[in-house]
Amino acid sequence: MAVDKNQVVAALGGVATPRGVALPQAGVLSDITVTDGKVFFSINVDAAEARAWEDVRAKADAAVRAIPGVVTALVALTAEKRPGSAPAPQPHSHNHSHGVKPAATHRPQGPPPESPMGKQVAIPGIANIIAIASGKGGVGKSTTALNLALALRDLGLRVGLLDADIYGPSVPRLIGVNEKPKLNDAKKMIPIKRFGMPMMSIGFLVAEETAMVWRGPMVMSAIRQMLWDVIWGELDVLVVDMPPGTGDAQLTLAQQVPLRGAVIVSTPQDLALIDARRGIAMFAKVDVPTLGIIENMSYFECPECGTRSDIFGHGGARHEAERLKVPFLGEIPLHMAIRTSSDAGTPVVESDPKGTHAAIYRAIADRIKHRLAGASAHI
Ligand code: ADP
Repeated sequence: MAVDKNQVVAALGGVATPRGVALPQAGVLSDITVTDGKVFFSINVDAAEARAWEDVRAKADAAVRAIPGVVTALVALTAEKRPGSAPAPQPHSHNHSHGVKPAATHRPQGPPPESPMGKQVAIPGIANIIAIASGKGGVGKSTTALNLALALRDLGLRVGLLDADIYGPSVPRLIGVNEKPKLNDAKKMIPIKRFGMPMMSIGFLVAEETAMVWRGPMVMSAIRQMLWDVIWGELDVLVVDMPPGTGDAQLTLAQQVPLRGAVIVSTPQDLALIDARRGIAMFAKVDVPTLGIIENMSYFECPECGTRSDIFGHGGARHEAERLKVPFLGEIPLHMAIRTSSDAGTPVVESDPKGTHAAIYRAIADRIKHRLAGASAHI
């Protein structure tokens, strides 16, 4: 039975609010999106009121989930800080159990946290979360994230992959899987298992073309659910494929996910490097250390003759890393096999583990592993 928006509004009619009227009449609801039994909306209130509305959010979430035919509900409470109002209240840690909390759109005032993990409560069972990021799209970030996750796995680590690329979640395509994660009895999502790794993608929850219309806070709410409401199990590393770019959505994500560090993927061209620089600056702003830069499509390797040509002026990322005093992690060639294996749903590290490309990814993964160990992570 298809769920429609009217049913959602009717169900929300039973949810009382601090304004003395039912939720649909309180003037705080965003557009309600209903697709294939998946319901998304946000409740927008002033930051000063956010705590009082957390209970409303929970009740709205429960009311929507109780509608027959609803598969997923993502109800975000967004706390807008208006000029002159108090800073957004910080959520209590017990809220993490359901994963959806006020999405503070501003960084709270006060001293910077002592460590990147200090600003967010760690996810139980996950020792390290690392972001794979890029200053712009199309540089091969997702391909690199997945192959690195596989390479870290091959080094003996327990690895998971979270595709948080809200603008174009590509993990479903790259792993050749597009199925909805199932829920366990406690309504927690069971991640998709592929190549021996648990994986979640925003693409499993929404169709690729609808992802763009998500508003920032709703996106954050979905990401939180994918972090806290998923049975990840015990992991040494969770690799997060970030949305490309350095805008507000990326900044919020970098700020809200308890990241141990970030890996920046760039191509060698100057323009891409300028964007990579912005990426490093963005992570620095939220106290997330850059673990290093990877130069992807570093040089062209002819699949026929093996001849190498530096079509993009190879080496730019290494110089940039030196200039910015961040580690340079390695160079990945532009090679047909990397693209075709990904397109076929079995990335090169998995399909050709003994090949030269798998060895390159493993060498980079090894450097990341050592950097994590050096940062006294549990690894
Ligand atoms: P992004 O996540 O940065 O948008 P993708 O990982 O989706 O980029 O890669 C964009 C395209 O480039 C894909 O078709 C992918 O297969 C291809 N690609 C990425 N890295 C390489 C590489 N090293 N060699 C050949 N093709 C690559």
